[in-house]
Amino acid sequence: MKFKPEKYRLPDVSMQPFIDEDEIMEIIANARPDREKVLAVINKSLEKNRLNLEETAILLNATDPDLVALIKQGARSLKEKVYGKRIVLFAPLYVGNYCSNNCRYCGFKASNTQAIRKTLTKDELIANVKALEEHGQKRLILVFGEHRLYSADFIAETVRTVYAVKKDHGEIRRVNINAAPFDIEGFRTVKEAGIGTYQIFQETYHRPTYAKCHTSGRKSDYDYRLTALDRAMEAGIDDVGLGALFGLADYRFEVLALLRHVNHLEACYNVGPHTISFPRIQDASDYDLDDQFAVSDEEFTRLVAILRLAVPYTGLILTARESRVVRNEVLAYGCSQIDAGTKLEIGAYAEDPSVDQNLHKEQFKINDDRTLNEIIDELLDGDYLPSFCTACYRKGRTGQHFMEFSVPGFIKKFCTPNALLTLAEYIVDYASPSTAEKGWKVIELNLKQMNDLQSESMVRERIERIKSGERDLYF
Ligand code: SAM
Ligand code: SF4
Repeated sequence: MKFKPEKYRLPDVSMQPFIDEDEIMEIIANARPDREKVLAVINKSLEKNRLNLEETAILLNATDPDLVALIKQGARSLKEKVYGKRIVLFAPLYVGNYCSNNCRYCGFKASNTQAIRKTLTKDELIANVKALEEHGQKRLILVFGEHRLYSADFIAETVRTVYAVKKDHGEIRRVNINAAPFDIEGFRTVKEAGIGTYQIFQETYHRPTYAKCHTSGRKSDYDYRLTALDRAMEAGIDDVGLGALFGLADYRFEVLALLRHVNHLEACYNVGPHTISFPRIQDASDYDLDDQFAVSDEEFTRLVAILRLAVPYTGLILTARESRVVRNEVLAYGCSQIDAGTKLEIGAYAEDPSVDQNLHKEQFKINDDRTLNEIIDELLDGDYLPSFCTACYRKGRTGQHFMEFSVPGFIKKFCTPNALLTLAEYIVDYASPSTAEKGWKVIELNLKQMNDLQSESMVRERIERIKSGERDLYF
């Protein structure tokens, strides 16, 4: 069967569903990889072009180890060529786990009577933000269950509270949210509170699987969730993150559907997503699904490399759901952001360690419980450049990731200097002595590699000002 060229597919009309399952299945069924085709697709990506669904399907169907090695090498080259060694760090902060939905994979589902329900009070919220600041965090994502308690007004107020918490030199400079979808008015409300990215995962783009996993509550409406980012865009939020929960349906289907979602946003709003997330299902309290579509480590690492090649100018977020080993591998394929020092139990950042943490049932299990300092230390060992930069968001440079990718010299002018300045702040305020030593070495190395005496001296001058007590210097 011949598949339809992209121009004949479902039209992209804003606020309308845009996933055509048969089309995606057909593209997967018709993709026949060989070495020549795989190389041609990789080269297209390395020339800084986004891949279409057919090309991406060729990579997804290429399971021969030699071809997989080419794909992974392609992703590594793209990462090195375009983005360099910067990795942006953030932490999730779970604000409340009341939930009226029944997502079968999630520990917060309404029917889970073992879950202890909790919403942080304002004082607890402040204590948790202070604790995060005391470790050096600058970027948070606030996470909420879906419940009438967590209205747009409540979330906006929470965001404002977080921005207002300052502890010594600590402050949160960017607050993103991962929350149930709002109507357009609700999106306007959270935008006014100054959110960075609004993130929402479709979980699965496969409609029958979606229906099976979301049997009741607001989230059972596939189309309402699918069009959430359309409403966000209509409300003026052009910094959005999408994602799929891998393990519910065929991972190849989800990757192509994610791409379809990117196409849709670009076609309707002229701007793609800021980030894509690819959480993989973890065990959770009262977990209730079989593992028919479980994604192995081999498939997972491969699919991240393929995503990198398919959307070379979109940020990729990798979370502590994955183990240190898997994280270390896929970092090299071009993930741009990772969480660090993550705790999912509600209120746990500010908690007395002697309190039984099992009292605070988390949403799912994480596999990387290293502290922020431990992760920074290891990143430095691998010559990565940990960054807490929030400059573009605060300077109003929207479409940041796209600019990094497409504007010549952008990374050199803004991203690397800002990464160095935020790392210098971290070292001065929070790093352990041995991490500090490694950190200064990496800063020196990067300053030398700038190959531009004027920029180098501008950054050096600001680093000296940081050492003398100034903070929040950025380009
Ligand atoms: N309640 C909101 C929602 O469903 O969109 C917000 C956040 S939910 C707490 C965050 C994400 O965690 C979900 O979108 C889902 O992808 C992911 N998640 C849920 N259960 C999971 C599990 N067992 N393993 C890994 N990720 C899971
Ligand atoms: Fe609730 Fe979100 Fe968990 Fe679903 S994934 S049960 S909506 S918290």
